[in-house]
Amino acid sequence: MKPFTYERARSPAEAAAAAARTPGARFIAGGTNLLDLVKLGIESPAHLIDVNRLGLDRIDATPEGGLRIGALVRNTDLAADAHVRRDYGVLSRALLAGASGQLRNRATTAGNLLQRTRCPYFYDTNLPCNKRVPGSGCSAIGGFSRQHAVVGGSSSCIATHPSDMAVAMRVLDASVETVRPNGKARVIPIADFHRLPGNTPHIETVLEPGELITAVTLPKPIGGAQVYRKVRDRASYAFALVSVAAIVQPDGTGRVALGGVAHKPWRVEAAEAQMPQGARAVTERLLADARPTEENQFKLTLAYRTIAAALAQAKG
Ligand SMILES: Cc1cc2nc3c(=O)[nH]c(=O)nc-3n(C[C@H](O)[C@H](O)[C@H](O)COP(=O)(O)OP(=O)(O)OC[C@H]3O[C@@H](n4cnc5c(N)ncnc54)[C@H](O)[C@@H]3O)c2cc1C
Ligand code: SF4
Repeated sequence: MKPFTYERARSPAEAAAAAARTPGARFIAGGTNLLDLVKLGIESPAHLIDVNRLGLDRIDATPEGGLRIGALVRNTDLAADAHVRRDYGVLSRALLAGASGQLRNRATTAGNLLQRTRCPYFYDTNLPCNKRVPGSGCSAIGGFSRQHAVVGGSSSCIATHPSDMAVAMRVLDASVETVRPNGKARVIPIADFHRLPGNTPHIETVLEPGELITAVTLPKPIGGAQVYRKVRDRASYAFALVSVAAIVQPDGTGRVALGGVAHKPWRVEAAEAQMPQGARAVTERLLADARPTEENQFKLTLAYRTIAAALAQAKG
């Protein structure tokens, strides 16, 4: 075992400052992703900063009529919250489609957004992976790529982002609140939060080193029928091959985001203008720049069929 040190932070600003000044430091929340990566030798933090007792576990109404979800709110509590169930049904459904009850009891809002890819080569330390070891190569390109991205990938990485919750956050236009190591707060729209891989797939978000997520804010509810549909290889306890978060208004307009197809939750607002024309038109616009591999081109048809099913479900 590699030795590491541990501290329990007393305030968000103190946690961010400690992370920035300690080389190799990482925050730990529920630990359901980080500890797995440590045990497998994929990550080896020199110092863990426990953020569980910072008082960031509340869900509060905002003055604008939205909801502020603390970074440490557990996935189970968020899915079960009465306001979330009533006004942001797509979020509750996406959360309940993820992981297992036990994992959701530990997993947190911030940790869920920052969970790392499930690309099998990322977990195999004997094989090249640009995300794990920058510059080493990508074993998925030309390898087993059935689960991988069909859009937004690069010649360095075609991994997908595995979170269900993040897809719902994207369709709801959430914002991520943070505190930087200098103590200053900032707000990042979820659309800008996750990065495409480019030639630096190991840098997955726009967070600075040491920057701590304090909350995720949802704007005022927009109503509509809200659906989350997830297609996977088995009925539960599996990551999405394709997932769809959809919100459909009574007049047929709405929003759609996809999971399981890109390095980040995939939403193209211009595609939503096609909603009255139907699922095929929406899918064609959403995946207009798709570059699937031979093994995962089935995801294009699957995305169309899942969007069609989600829209039909939303229209009742
Ligand atoms: C078997 C299994 C099946 C799963 N299935 C699914 C699934 O189907 N769908 C799905 O969406 N997820 C799934 N998950 C993933 C699960 O949702 C994540 O592991 C969980 O959400 C991570 O949250 P955590 O609080 O445990 O994060 P941690 O493991 O504590 O942390 C994850 C990362 O976030 C960082 N971090 C944590 N808190 C903060 C903060 N406040 N600010 C900045 N950085 C922070 C940590 O440093 C670390 O890098 C599965 C996990 C497992 C183990
Ligand atoms: S797709 Fe990305 S995570 Fe997977 S092997 Fe290639 S570089 Fe690594």
